[in-house]
Amino acid sequence: MEIFGKEILIKTHGCNVLNEPGQRIIPSVNIFVKVTNQCNAHCVFCSNAGYKNASTAFNIPKLMSVIHELKDSNIYVNRINITGGEPSIVSPLVYKILDSIDEEGFNDVHLHLNTNGLLPQSQELMKYERWDSISMSLHHYDLEKLSELYGCAIPQSALSFAGIDLQILNASCNLIKGYIDSPGEAAKMLDFVIDLGIPRIGFVALMKVNDFCHRHFIDLEDIHIDTISHVYFTKSMNRGSDCKCSNYLYNKNLKVLEIYMRNYSNPMYCESSLVYDGENLRQGFNNNNIIC
Ligand code: SF4
Repeated sequence: MEIFGKEILIKTHGCNVLNEPGQRIIPSVNIFVKVTNQCNAHCVFCSNAGYKNASTAFNIPKLMSVIHELKDSNIYVNRINITGGEPSIVSPLVYKILDSIDEEGFNDVHLHLNTNGLLPQSQELMKYERWDSISMSLHHYDLEKLSELYGCAIPQSALSFAGIDLQILNASCNLIKGYIDSPGEAAKMLDFVIDLGIPRIGFVALMKVNDFCHRHFIDLEDIHIDTISHVYFTKSMNRGSDCKCSNYLYNKNLKVLEIYMRNYSNPMYCESSLVYDGENLRQGFNNNNIIC
């Protein structure tokens, strides 16, 4: 399909459809809106280095015209992901973008926030009521280890999530040698997250972007999630032919936690995402492929 006279990749088959993997779905895209490359944390495994800072001259009307063009081309905007860097570094810009989306009549679009989630500035942004879902980083159950990983002090108060709707939260835990790196450590992480009241957690392998990531890489298979007590594989969440998501449930003390393990078998699969950096719209996460 085309937008602005250029062919784009779109998602046409579902991977998460109950009992029917690979079922045809309405042609759709996810738009990643990269509002900044700055962050208030200093993680050594950060894959964000190298992106230009888009926050200084972010063109909101152009983003609106992109959404209009997609809708006019009968391409469903599955969700808009506000991402960074850390979006709360430029919160006023984020609020303006969200307000514009609603003012243009796109109130039905699912709005998702990616955030580091544990610093006061980040938690302020997470309280905004327009979010439909939020992914936050949570790489350990121990506050000291968390501070070590973030490269800054995480306050104890961060774990109370005051004023934040826990039901829309998704914790994302990087597997890192010396931290969460084994079935025993993963089990502790599951207990920690279920006690916090967060309903889902994703385990993610590090992208090998630097020497630290190479040396501390832990494969998803290494935590042997299906050997952990109270973990059940959910056959209802299927594995599609491209995206080999594994989904599990952790059921303990009458509480339930969803677990996902992401492992894309077809690296081109996520190329169907569009990325807008405030200036250019691109196909996928490469620096080339400019659509407009
Ligand atoms: S929180 Fe995310 S963007 Fe910020 S330094 Fe860590 S990995 Fe990078």
